[in-house]
Amino acid sequence: MRAGIITIGDELLIGQTIDTNSAWIGEKMSLAGFDVCRKITVHDKREDILNALSDFTGKSEVVLITGGLGPTSDDITKPALCEFFKTRLVVNNEVLEMIGQMMMRRGFPMNEKNSKQAEVPESCRVLTNAVGTAPGMWFEKEGTRFISMPGVPYEMKYIMEQHVLPEIRKLFTSQVIVHKNLMTYGVSEAVLSDLLEEFEAGLPEEIRLAYLPSWGINKLRLTGTGKSLEEIKDLIDRQVARLYQTIPDLIYAEDEQTFEEVTGRLLAQRHKTLCTAESCTGGNIAHMITSVPGSSAYFLGSVVAYDNRIKTGLLKIDPAIIGQHGAVSEPVAMAMAENARKIFNSDFSVATTGIAGPDGGTNDKRVGTVWVSVASGSGTLAVKHVFGTERIANIRRFSLAALDLLRKQIISG
Ligand code: AMP
Ligand code: MG
Repeated sequence: MRAGIITIGDELLIGQTIDTNSAWIGEKMSLAGFDVCRKITVHDKREDILNALSDFTGKSEVVLITGGLGPTSDDITKPALCEFFKTRLVVNNEVLEMIGQMMMRRGFPMNEKNSKQAEVPESCRVLTNAVGTAPGMWFEKEGTRFISMPGVPYEMKYIMEQHVLPEIRKLFTSQVIVHKNLMTYGVSEAVLSDLLEEFEAGLPEEIRLAYLPSWGINKLRLTGTGKSLEEIKDLIDRQVARLYQTIPDLIYAEDEQTFEEVTGRLLAQRHKTLCTAESCTGGNIAHMITSVPGSSAYFLGSVVAYDNRIKTGLLKIDPAIIGQHGAVSEPVAMAMAENARKIFNSDFSVATTGIAGPDGGTNDKRVGTVWVSVASGSGTLAVKHVFGTERIANIRRFSLAALDLLRKQIISG
C-alpha cells in the first residue's frame, strides 16, 4: 500500500512557508499502514501540477494533495485538476450553502470570489469542510485515489480526520505498520552504526531500522510491517530487548521523551531536588528543566554565573582557583557545582563552564570546550567535552552533556 503527497504553493519553495502539511500527513498515513514513498512540492504552475499528478497515477493507492484552492488568481489547483481528470467546474449547491452560512456567521457579505469557491470539478466527490470555505475533493484514476485539500493546515487536518482517514482505513485494512523509537545519546551516528552492525544483520525482514540524529541525540526507529498487529508488536518487542542488550548505556528513553523529561522524572520518583550553576549555557539548562510541567517538584533554581565576578561573589569560588586554572577548567566546574549545591541546599547540582564561541578560544582551550560537573551526596564528578564552533549548537550540546551526566549520577544513586 503506497501513498504519495503533493504540496502545492510558491511559498513552500521559496522559504516563506514551511511545508508542515506533508509532515503531518506522512505521519498519519504511515500510522494507517501506508508506505509513504514519495512527496512532491510544486509551485502554482499548471504544467508542474499536471506532471506531479501523472507521476503518481497507477503507482500509489492514495495521493494526498494540499494547497492552491484559494479563491484568488494565484491558486490554480482546481483548473489543473479539471484538466487532468478531463472534467469541468460546476457549482455545488451544498458547498454554496455552507459558504453562505459561514459568511453570515462571520458577518461578511458573500462576494463573487466566495461563490467561486463553491465551484468544484464535476467528476469529484466533495468532502465537506466545516472550518473553511474550500471543500476537499476525491478523484480516482487508474486505481489511484487523489484527494485534494486546502493548504491551511487546520482545514487540511479537519478534512483528513473527518473524511479521508476513516475512509481509507475502511478501504485498506490488510496491512499494519508499527513504529517504535529508542532515544540514544553519547556516541555519533557512525559509531552507533558500528556498534549495531551485528544487531542489524540479525533483524527479521519485517523490521527496518532507521537512524535519526539531531544535536548528539540519535533516535533509533524500528518499523515493522506485516499482516498481524500482534505478531509485529511481538517482533518489535524482541528487537527492542536485543537493542537494550547491545547498547544498554546509550539508551536514555523510549519514544519521543526529551532529556529534561527523563531527568525530571528520575528526580521526582526519588524525591530529590536540583539546582544549576551555569556559565556558558546561560541558564539554558534551567530553561530546559523548567519547560517540563511539574518541574517545581524538584527544581529549586539557578545561578547564571557568566562573569567571573559572579562566580567569585555569588558562588563563592576562590579567585585563586580561577587565576591558577582559568574559568574553563575542572576545578572551577566542580567548585561551581559544589557551592551551588550548598547555597541551594539541593540533592543534586549541575554546573557548566566552557567556550561557546565563535570567539574566545585559545590554543589549549578551543572553542567548543566545556567542563560539565554534577555534585551530589555521593561526591562530585566533572567531564570535559570538545564540540564544534557554532554557538547555538554548542549551548545545546553543552546542556545535553550536563543533563546526561546528571541522569547517570541520579541512576547510580
Ligand atoms: P492555499 O490553499 O494555497 O491558498 O494556502 C493557504 C495557506 O495555507 C498558505 O498561505 C500557507 O500559509 C498555508 N499552507 C499552504 N500549504 C501549506 C503546507 N504544505 N504546509 C503548511 N502550510 C501551508
Ligand atoms: Mg496558495
